[in-house]
Amino acid sequence: MKNIVIVLTGGTIAMRIDPNIGAAIPSLKADELIGEVKAHIKGTQIIERELFNIPSGHVTPEKMELIKKAVEEALADPDNVGVIVTHGTDTLEETAYFLDITINNKKPIVVTGAMRNASELGYDGELNLTASIATVLNEESKGLGTLVVMNNEVHSAAQVTKTNTLSVNTFKSPEFGPLGIIDNDEVLYYRREKSVKKILTSHIESKVALVKMAAGVEGDIIDFYVDHGYRGIVIEALGRGNVPPKTLPAINRALENNIPIVLVSRCATGRVLGSYGYLGGGKGLFESGVINGGALPGQKARIALMALIGAGKNKNEIEDFFKI
Ligand code: ASP
Repeated sequence: MKNIVIVLTGGTIAMRIDPNIGAAIPSLKADELIGEVKAHIKGTQIIERELFNIPSGHVTPEKMELIKKAVEEALADPDNVGVIVTHGTDTLEETAYFLDITINNKKPIVVTGAMRNASELGYDGELNLTASIATVLNEESKGLGTLVVMNNEVHSAAQVTKTNTLSVNTFKSPEFGPLGIIDNDEVLYYRREKSVKKILTSHIESKVALVKMAAGVEGDIIDFYVDHGYRGIVIEALGRGNVPPKTLPAINRALENNIPIVLVSRCATGRVLGSYGYLGGGKGLFESGVINGGALPGQKARIALMALIGAGKNKNEIEDFFKI
């Protein structure tokens, strides 16, 4: 008999509407969440590990480390063929990406959740769980790193992002699309993804800031982070990787203080590059020591920088990680 471990962390998949509050809160126990699914699955033993039951906005770097530990413990048992993590969808892509870059194991790891809570018609928790089980059991899922399964699609954790606040079809990989689909409990892969570079660390640095650029902003928030002991900064720049010129003194001050700055774009797709040579353009930023974060969205570049700093990597090693 094959075993699959489900690590439960909370999110809408484990929520109901509280009649007093009139809104959804964490409430489902493990057997309520998995009981029906267990009854449906034949020939596979499901082992639940209830880690916590929190909304994903309450997930901290420390909690991500605990999730990683639980996943690695489960993977280490030869009887377990893979692991599923249930998680709130708001920060699901961050935890999934963290697991992807920090766990080096060929067994499938799937992160899933739900957009509708258990009090709503069309609750998608059971659908997503059964699709996740099918994905873990599929031989072709081995070696693909951490996967995100939602709405009958399999996505690479490195590429997937939540795109809509409400839709059950919210998780998309905007650059290249899903890796495959789940049709009637059968997983059909259409493409494979080269695996992400790994950062082998069990510690992530929590003092890494994410700063978004906008027309006319100044560098005061960057100065704040420098003055408050932040160890790294990710800047979500404009377009191809440019910033308003009034942020430059603060950016240079952070660099002088040896605080790594990783530049990504606030655009939904596309990588940053030094295409522009005007004041605040990407060319000058990269020449002054800002690190090119490629096509990652800010929230994932932040997770990578947290892991890199946590692992004690130097500037060159950080730069290497972000290179395609
Ligand atoms: N707010 C919820 C959470 O992230 C959303 C969800 O799980 O779908 O915990």
